[in-house]
Amino acid sequence: MRAFLLWSLLVAMASAATVRVQIAGRIVDLDLEEYVAATLAGESSVSQSEEALKAMAVAARTYAVHFKSRHAAEGFDLCDLTHCQRVDRKAVTARLTAIAKQTAGELLWYQGKPAVTYYTRDCGGRSEDVRRLARGERAVSDEPCRSVLSSRWRLALALGGQLEADICLLGQLGPASAARH
Ligand SMILES: [Zn+2]
Repeated sequence: MRAFLLWSLLVAMASAATVRVQIAGRIVDLDLEEYVAATLAGESSVSQSEEALKAMAVAARTYAVHFKSRHAAEGFDLCDLTHCQRVDRKAVTARLTAIAKQTAGELLWYQGKPAVTYYTRDCGGRSEDVRRLARGERAVSDEPCRSVLSSRWRLALALGGQLEADICLLGQLGPASAARH
């Protein structure tokens, strides 16, 4: 019961939040869910799956909450560029607004705090579950991403230190779950 009340409180707090965003040089206060819908429009224009968009809504909301003060010295919370998250208010549709509402207040938690939910607009044509990478398996071709997006990029990371420790930790975790618990 206590956990449910805490969850309800946290969801209510996240739902009621606002973010101060610099959009095209102007500072605008947005309801967090309005911000999430605008971020879906800016970052997920190629996603068609309802469930993928819901997952992205949770990731974008969590990212915003986690990094909310990163531009505090400049008088706002988040910028509208890929430095924070790309925001496109003009491209928001009724569907994206509904998806933001359906997931309203949901955050991804890690060790009692909103997680760091880095993501990329596209995988560059190859992707893999980090748990499989932790077992030494190689990334596989991602044809849907490759066929929809034209960008190709390559990133090589040397394992060792914190990166290797983080991948090993992720490899030991079960399937990621959005926090409604
Ligand atoms: Zn920024």
